[in-house]
Amino acid sequence: MVDSYGRVIDYLRISVTDRCNERCLYCLPEGYKGWAQKADHLTAEEILHVARAAAQMGFRKFRLTGGEPTLRGDLLEIAAGLGALPDREMLGLSTNGLRLDRMAADLRAAGVTSINLSLDAVDPAVYRRITGGDVRAVLRGLDAALAVGFRQVKLNCVLMRHVNEQEIPALLALAADRRVPVRFIELMPLSRTDVLQPENFLSVEEVRDRLAAEGGLETLPDARLGAGPARYFRHRASGAVVGFIGALTAEDFCVTCNKLRLTADGKIRPCLGRHQEMDLLADLRSGRGEVRAALEEAIARKPEDHEFRTCYTPERPMTAIGG
Ligand code: SAM
Repeated sequence: MVDSYGRVIDYLRISVTDRCNERCLYCLPEGYKGWAQKADHLTAEEILHVARAAAQMGFRKFRLTGGEPTLRGDLLEIAAGLGALPDREMLGLSTNGLRLDRMAADLRAAGVTSINLSLDAVDPAVYRRITGGDVRAVLRGLDAALAVGFRQVKLNCVLMRHVNEQEIPALLALAADRRVPVRFIELMPLSRTDVLQPENFLSVEEVRDRLAAEGGLETLPDARLGAGPARYFRHRASGAVVGFIGALTAEDFCVTCNKLRLTADGKIRPCLGRHQEMDLLADLRSGRGEVRAALEEAIARKPEDHEFRTCYTPERPMTAIGG
């Protein structure tokens, strides 16, 4: 499926819940009350119905996300259904890792091929301040994921000046030690939270320049790994593979966008950085709507680029959209 700007759209990110067991500074506004009703969450069968329609149209990459996807009781059933899709190339899971220790082997057996592990700090106090969680459990999850042999495991760190910039060396050391890439991601204006202030914004360019000045960054021959927009280098001093996701500052960020998002409450969202969504839930439940037609329409409506730099104001928080 090719959109109006010539981009091949073959990647569906599926949020299975808006609930989370962490409270990240940039994701959930304090006192958030907008949780979806349980009954409004798509069932496993509804999710798989949408995914099968997408696969028939040529979608080859799928990612489970949330909220925190590991909170969903039937996650393994959903993963197994996605794992069985014909011609699927990738089935990823984005997780904070708190439950990964217990679930890694079952997720791998269900067909999940790659894990994106959110890790904004290695220091327990800094990690707790950002997320409310326990980094030791996350590190156990990381090691469990590595032990069961996922095809790819990546660390994701959202950059915040004055909050976790001092953690960058420790994250690089961890990435080098565990031989996994670490990606630095720019803070996006996705939820109305206190941390979304210009003084907390730290661009990937600034971090890239710092690392380049320190020990040098070597461009990897295949500068893009996986299905996303990160560009990769080797950090010579630590040996770590490091990726940069300039969601706000990279002018060409959307040129290679290949995604649609399915929210936990059944909306198709063509672009993370624009509010437009199309409701699939009623169609799915009435049995009247054509999922394929809805996906085609979402692709046709996919904008050329996001509005983060111009006129975007946070509405639905990231936890409800799906990361
Ligand atoms: N709970 C899972 C996790 O922690 O990966 C999946 C959902 S989470 C919303 C997915 C990713 O979105 C995480 O890596 C998180 O750090 C990132 N994220 C959330 N809000 C963000 C924001 N305002 N700017 C940049 N990244 C954000």
